[in-house]
Parts: sequence; structure tokens; C-alpha cells
Amino acid sequence: MIYHNSGEIDKLNVIIASTSTVYGGQYLAYLIDDLSGHFKDIDELIFIPYARPSGMTYDAYTAVAARFFEKLNIAVKGIHKIDNVQKAIEKAQAVFTGGGNTFLLVKKFYEKNLFPVLRQRILEGMPYLGTSAGSNITGQTMQTTNDMPIVKVPSYQTLGIFPFNINPHYLDPAPDLLKHMGETRDTRLKEYLHFNKVPVVALREGSYIQTIAGKWLLKGELSARIYFSLDNIKEVESGTDLKIYRDKFRILE
Ligand code: ASP
Repeated sequence: MIYHNSGEIDKLNVIIASTSTVYGGQYLAYLIDDLSGHFKDIDELIFIPYARPSGMTYDAYTAVAARFFEKLNIAVKGIHKIDNVQKAIEKAQAVFTGGGNTFLLVKKFYEKNLFPVLRQRILEGMPYLGTSAGSNITGQTMQTTNDMPIVKVPSYQTLGIFPFNINPHYLDPAPDLLKHMGETRDTRLKEYLHFNKVPVVALREGSYIQTIAGKWLLKGELSARIYFSLDNIKEVESGTDLKIYRDKFRILE
């Protein structure tokens, strides 16, 4: 596997969010202050609805995003309405990839050959927002998604903008589920580490990572859990610059 160079962080404008909606909140509402800064110079963004949740149409999903971005005076164009998607990404002011099923999303990205062009634009500084599945693809691979493989993907490799992998919607083992014998998220991530070296940042609900002034800043109210290796799993407080771990754990294979 090629471990991507995640480029000059100073240039990046990326938000990687665990979820689009926190419990009891409205779609993207908890991110609105940061999003208005993140997208301050743009009046249109391209929305990628390919992960569309549970059978919702691309149009309906795009409409949900458009309704939110109206508040920021940003028009939302669904990529499914565009013939030449390569050119559209080359020229986009900004891109937002929504959540859903990560396998579905990655399959479509390979079909349309979107990874190279989107990666290039993000490295040049184009603002990018990912939620859930849209965040999973910022990592090195999609192997730490929570989703089921409902379709086949040609490769697990994704954008490689973020130096590690992401596990969104991270769930702590719940004491009231002690009678449940299925694997906890912690167990699954450790299983991943038995076979893979790329560390994983597990983001709890409401946590997100934003590039600010050359930093990969962890934001939100909660700490995140980083699975560096089987004997190195750390809780990291909100406000931490995750860049400090990047060079230490860079793996070139
Ligand atoms: N299904 C999630 C989403 O909402 C992604 C994940 O849990 O890996 O996009």
C-alpha cells in the first residue's frame, strides 16, 4: 500500500466531521460557526450524495444539504446533475461529501475516477467538508468504516489527505450492553490493528478535525481515541493538534 503524503497542512482547508447531525440537533447545525468561516469566500459548492443513506434519492439528499447552506448564502449543486464530473471538481469552489454507506461511496468514486482530481484540488487548498462516510474517505483507506460491504469496491484506498484513518461515530463500550456478545468498536479497531499499520482516529459524535494554521485541530466537546498500535491507544483532548503525531507515526511501505 502507498502511504500518501498529506501535503502541506498550511494550505489545506478541510473539515472531517464524525457526523452531520448530533443527537437532538438539526442537520449540520453544530458546525455552523466553523462552516461559515470555512466557506466564507464561496457562493457555490458541489455536494456528493453518492453514499446516500437508505435509498434516499440523490435529489432529495442534495436538497437537505441545500436547505442548510441557504443560511450561509451558498448554492449547492449535486454532482449527479453534472455530466463532466472531472471538470466540475477541477473548477469547484468547494466540495462537500455527505454520509451514508462508505462502500457505496467509494465504489462510485472509483467508477467516476474522482479520487485523483479531488485529492489534487484539496491539496491546492480548495475547501472540503466531509461528514461520516465523506470523512472516512479523507483517510488513507476506508478499512475502518462501520459500514457493511453492501457493494464491492475495487480498492480500499481513499483520498489520503488525512495522514491516518478515520472511524466515525465512535461508540464506547456501554455497560448496559454487557449481555451483548457482539464485538465492541474497540475490539473491531484492535482487530484492524492486527493486520494494518495505519493508525486510526476514532471520533465520537460531535467531534471533528479542522485544518487551522497548519494544524489538524481536534474540535468538539469530547476527546477522541487514537489507535496507533495494539500497545499504544491514547485518549486525546479536544484542542489537540493531531499533526504532532503525524511524523512520528508516518509509515512508508
Ligand atoms: N455510515 C456512516 C455514515 O453515516 C459511516 C460509518 O459509520 O463508517 O456515513
